[in-house]
Amino acid sequence: MQAVHERIAAAAREAGRPAQDVALLAISKTFPSSAIAEAHGAGQRLFGENYVQEALDKMRDLAHLALEWHYVGPIQSNKTRPIAEHFHWAHGVDREKIAVRLSQSRPSRLPPLQVCIQVNLGAEATKSGIAPDQALPLARAIVPLPGLRLRGLMTIPEPSRDIGLQRSRFRALRELRDEITRHGIPLDTLSMGMSDDLEAAVLEGATLVRIGTAIFGARQAIPAS
Ligand SMILES: *Cc1c(COP(=O)(O)O)cnc(C)c1O
Repeated sequence: MQAVHERIAAAAREAGRPAQDVALLAISKTFPSSAIAEAHGAGQRLFGENYVQEALDKMRDLAHLALEWHYVGPIQSNKTRPIAEHFHWAHGVDREKIAVRLSQSRPSRLPPLQVCIQVNLGAEATKSGIAPDQALPLARAIVPLPGLRLRGLMTIPEPSRDIGLQRSRFRALRELRDEITRHGIPLDTLSMGMSDDLEAAVLEGATLVRIGTAIFGARQAIPAS
């Protein structure tokens, strides 16, 4: 955890940005509730999960702690209700139909679910994410939904060791954010950067990095549910 904070601080310094402008979302998928409790003890508050049932079990275990839960997995139609009922954020919104369902399922006693539009910048192997030129229309569709609050954009670029390529993807997301903002929809969140590319993301303006391995260690492969 400390090492990750130091990496973020170093990259922020290089970018001339305050390190506090970069939130750390700890991606705890596959790790037990005890690992989350331990990270909470070290000051961590934001946790990300991408298997709904696994996340609900951990929320139950950890209900006594003040944690902020982010859903970062692909959002299937049959999972919109538990996501809307239990999470504070959802990062993978890439279709209007999913956004509408999340909004309808958000309980009125809760503040709106905070969401990011997932953008697919490389048309690479990952099937999740909307094409960049569809992000503005989707943003326009989300803004009026009462159960949602649109915060920004999220991306998962193809893995690469080439920091130039990493930066070009993250720069493209930032430019898309700026373009949508110019169209009158202000977005304050760029959810980008994982364990292997957080420096590139911070240099290009990430406001939230999603870090699993560098905090919790390597994950066992588990079948997607
Ligand atoms: C698993 C996951 C991460 C964390 O990846 P690491 O490489 O372990 O840091 C980040 N974002 C999403 C959407 C993930 O599913």
